[in-house]
Amino acid sequence: MKTATRLVHAGRDPAAQQGIVNPPVYHASTVIFESLDALESAQQNPFKGVYYGRNGTPVQFAFEAAVAELEGAHGAVTTCSGLAAIVAAVMSVAESGTHLLVTDNVYGPTRGLCEGLLKRLGVRTTYFDPTLDAQALEALITPDTRAVFVEAPGSLTFEISDVPALARVAHAHDLTVIADNTWATPLYYDALGHGADISIHAATKYLVGHADAMLGVINCSESHYLAVRKTAASMGYCAGPDDVYLGLRGVRTLGQRLPVHQASALALADWLAERPEVARVIHPARADHPQHALWRRDFTGSSGLFAAVLQPCSRAQLAAMLDDLELYGMGFSWGGFESLILPVDPGRSRTATTWSATGPTLRIHAGLEDINDLIADLGAGLDRLGL
Ligand SMILES: *Cc1c(COP(=O)(O)O)cnc(C)c1O
Repeated sequence: MKTATRLVHAGRDPAAQQGIVNPPVYHASTVIFESLDALESAQQNPFKGVYYGRNGTPVQFAFEAAVAELEGAHGAVTTCSGLAAIVAAVMSVAESGTHLLVTDNVYGPTRGLCEGLLKRLGVRTTYFDPTLDAQALEALITPDTRAVFVEAPGSLTFEISDVPALARVAHAHDLTVIADNTWATPLYYDALGHGADISIHAATKYLVGHADAMLGVINCSESHYLAVRKTAASMGYCAGPDDVYLGLRGVRTLGQRLPVHQASALALADWLAERPEVARVIHPARADHPQHALWRRDFTGSSGLFAAVLQPCSRAQLAAMLDDLELYGMGFSWGGFESLILPVDPGRSRTATTWSATGPTLRIHAGLEDINDLIADLGAGLDRLGL
């Protein structure tokens, strides 16, 4: 079956719910067992079927089945946010005294986890250049190293790592490869097929797709599934059934939404690249991106998030541009139906690499608005820079 079909049918079983198309949203803490036998057999396997509200309800099982099928995973684990998915995945392999290799372009709160909680628990992190070759990565592996964490592309600077090459080296040393695959979604990057053992999605972004729910999901290979499931459970992570429902509902239309985000982001990027106020556009699907060849080789599409570096300007000029935009909201997150723009400073959170840009960097999310309206609004904003 083609992806568009699987998006509609994955994880669905109307016959099991009186013919109703979507799974029920049960609000549940307590689950009653009918007999001592039933109780004891559930206790043998608390992750199979309903057991206790925190361990999941039917809508969560449907969401997990759908997402795992889309990415070809053995199983998926739902969490209450994308960050919780990252924490659970990393905590499933990290122990006191161990060491992690993390890409330098990683999502800020992932670095926060490494530098905060993990450091306190005695887990060390070395950051590596996302464009590092496999040999150079191998040189960073120590006997204590347990995992390599990649984010391709990084959500501020959009470098693409050669994940298959890095994964080959990592696996030769028995390391777990964890990928934050939020940007590409399961549709545009087959993280597990390219060597990741665990693929994380901030479902808050494109899977939910409507800027209204926090949700995370962890796709796992068979060898990592149970460890991740147990870690997430022991950390007490669970997502509310209404939010999981929104995640599953988002999956159904992802195949229609994502191509629009893709086309509009590319059109905006191409248009921005021609504007004199723009020093450079950073979009992996453009031929001028430094790792464009890797993106072409490994990805089947690009989503709606990219960056542009402006020519140097003052804060007042930047404010004049941003404050009066009509269609682009300034705010965190992305992946919803609406366009966003955010000034970012990628240099602030790097240690293994440097970030050089003379002007401000803007991260742009192309929403589902009409592309001509998006261009007109951004064009008026660039005019207000007065460069
Ligand atoms: C937003 C984001 C996360 C975290 O997701 P939340 O649901 O906001 O916790 C993780 N990784 C990336 C790349 C993100 O953009």
